Amino acid sequence: MHPFSYTKVSDLAGALAAGRRGGRYLAGGTMLVDLMRESVERPSVLVDISALPLGEITATAGGGLRIGALVRMAEAAAHPSVRAAFPVISQALESSASAQLRNMATIGGNIMQRTRCPYFRDVTAACNKREPGAGCAALGGFNRAHAILGASEHCAATHPSDVAVAFAALEANVHLLGPDGERSVALADFLLPPGGTPQREQAARPGELITAVEIPAHPRPLRSGYLKVRDRQSYEFALTSAAVALHLRDGVIHQAKVAAGGVGTVPWKLPAVERLLIGERPSQALWAEAAERAADGARPLEHNRFKIELLKRTVERQLRVVGDLAGGTA
Ligand code: SF4
Repeated sequence: MHPFSYTKVSDLAGALAAGRRGGRYLAGGTMLVDLMRESVERPSVLVDISALPLGEITATAGGGLRIGALVRMAEAAAHPSVRAAFPVISQALESSASAQLRNMATIGGNIMQRTRCPYFRDVTAACNKREPGAGCAALGGFNRAHAILGASEHCAATHPSDVAVAFAALEANVHLLGPDGERSVALADFLLPPGGTPQREQAARPGELITAVEIPAHPRPLRSGYLKVRDRQSYEFALTSAAVALHLRDGVIHQAKVAAGGVGTVPWKLPAVERLLIGERPSQALWAEAAERAADGARPLEHNRFKIELLKRTVERQLRVVGDLAGGTA
């Protein structure tokens, strides 16, 4: 491991000052420390922010939720307000990592986590994300787990977070604090597809800190859930996943929020699926017709063509499950 210095801060001003000097923020440490051990990440200064007052979950006006960046994954998953209003978030969190990791890892860190592309973690392999301009070993290598949506000729790594898929479906906002003050960015704009700069994964500015993720209010009742398909039933990343939230009124779908994971370079919103659902009455035929649009625009690589059909089936199944909860399927 590369030599580094460590400092622990107790207030936001101290954190920002350390961040301004180039320090790298450390919270749960479940990703960054791993990558440092493998020499993939080599920060020279770690700024431990775990003592900052960012560990609250609070209700917002109209029925939204604000989840502090330092709330642990396990804590968020079990929180009564999260479970009651947005079970899709709880289910996504509980399908992630292991119980031990969920007890350590934070919501902010989970969004910021880096890809699980094996070539990224192998410092002997060519990787544009780790070393800009080096090439991409995955594009001509074994790419079964890689993205079919949002890839560029420079990188096809998937975003590994489950809860970010639920946040994307619910159109969450990321709150940031930095040298220029506070700002809020839609998650859809915060996580960046690779394009020509795969090393740049988020829109955070130098020294900025995530303070919270805010879920906007949605009409009630909102039924929601998360389905993750993977090679083994625990401690594994998604091959495909689907986050679905539906609001029905008088038997008609008035709001549909759908996103997919395991298939995109960022959590992948599915607006074509959503559009097909709105204004319709739930039925098996509707779920199947909508799910057909889930892989619109997909560009598979040599080993991951199977994800197209798997994604459609994942979305169809989760539409059916949530549709039944929301009011029954004819
Ligand atoms: Fe690196 Fe992305 Fe290629 Fe993986 S897919 S080797 S992360 S550039």
